[in-house]
Amino acid sequence: MQNAAFAAHGINATYELRPINPDDVGAFFSEARGPDWLGFGVTAPYKQVAMSYLDEVEPGAAAIGAVNNGVRRDDGALVGFNTDASGFVSAVKSTGVSVAGRRAVVVGAGGAARAVVWALLDAGVESVFVANRTLERARGLAESLSQYGDVGSGSLDDPKLTAALGSAAIAVNATTVGMTTDTVAFDVAGLPKGALVFDLVYVPPITPLVRAATARGLQVCNGMEMLVRQGEVAFERWTGISNTAGVMRDAIDAWLADSEPEG
Ligand code: NAP
Repeated sequence: MQNAAFAAHGINATYELRPINPDDVGAFFSEARGPDWLGFGVTAPYKQVAMSYLDEVEPGAAAIGAVNNGVRRDDGALVGFNTDASGFVSAVKSTGVSVAGRRAVVVGAGGAARAVVWALLDAGVESVFVANRTLERARGLAESLSQYGDVGSGSLDDPKLTAALGSAAIAVNATTVGMTTDTVAFDVAGLPKGALVFDLVYVPPITPLVRAATARGLQVCNGMEMLVRQGEVAFERWTGISNTAGVMRDAIDAWLADSEPEG
């Protein structure tokens, strides 16, 4: 996706996968200060520890507690930010649904859920209800982000979740359910007409949740648009070039078509 955008804009750069051992994280970030680097992406399990090797962490990433991308400034300083939050907001905007002043439900309490809850609060939602299989994690997330707005929490069988879904303008699956299982993280039956169901899962692109929400005639967005939008945000920070979502989407579609099992 990033390489397709580099090629489309004639930029002589490559986005490379680097497996890093825990002992080599510091050495990696020293290398990334070199003049031939534009920036970097970080994925699990280094999204938190990366912050201690950077010169600056932008406020959104600091609030979320995780950096998933960074840019090398001309002076060699490394600045970390989080594109899960901005990619999510950009994907929500692309559906035409406005969440400001309205209620949201997020199911899941891992790293992605933290970014989504913070993004929703930053976008001005009235409240967010966070539900998770492990109640303690939902509570912890709600407590740590409650300084940014109204965040409630509960378990997956909490009647408060059913009530929250009944008045939600947006309901988000931020669990791995649908990717690792053939089930749904929450029931779409009680959502109001016109609500947006956002599934962060992008493989497979059509999850049981996406199927159920589509069958009910709700608005639906899967994780692919967020993946593309967060990539677009990072690319713009590295190169100054915007509007690369189209070329990135085409690259992913081609990759998905290639990886589909035959027969
Ligand atoms: P994570 O930190 O490992 O969190 C996983 C979450 O899934 C936890 O809340 C966990 O609950 C829950 N979960 C796992 N199995 C479950 C089950 N059988 N039933 C109910 N809940 C279950 O993962 P993450 O990094 O936050 O990622 C979550 C999802 O978001 C993944 O599918 C990932 O691919 C997707 N994602 C998409 C994008 C995008 O750009 N589209 C970006 C980031 C992440 P417990 O706390 O109880 O274990």
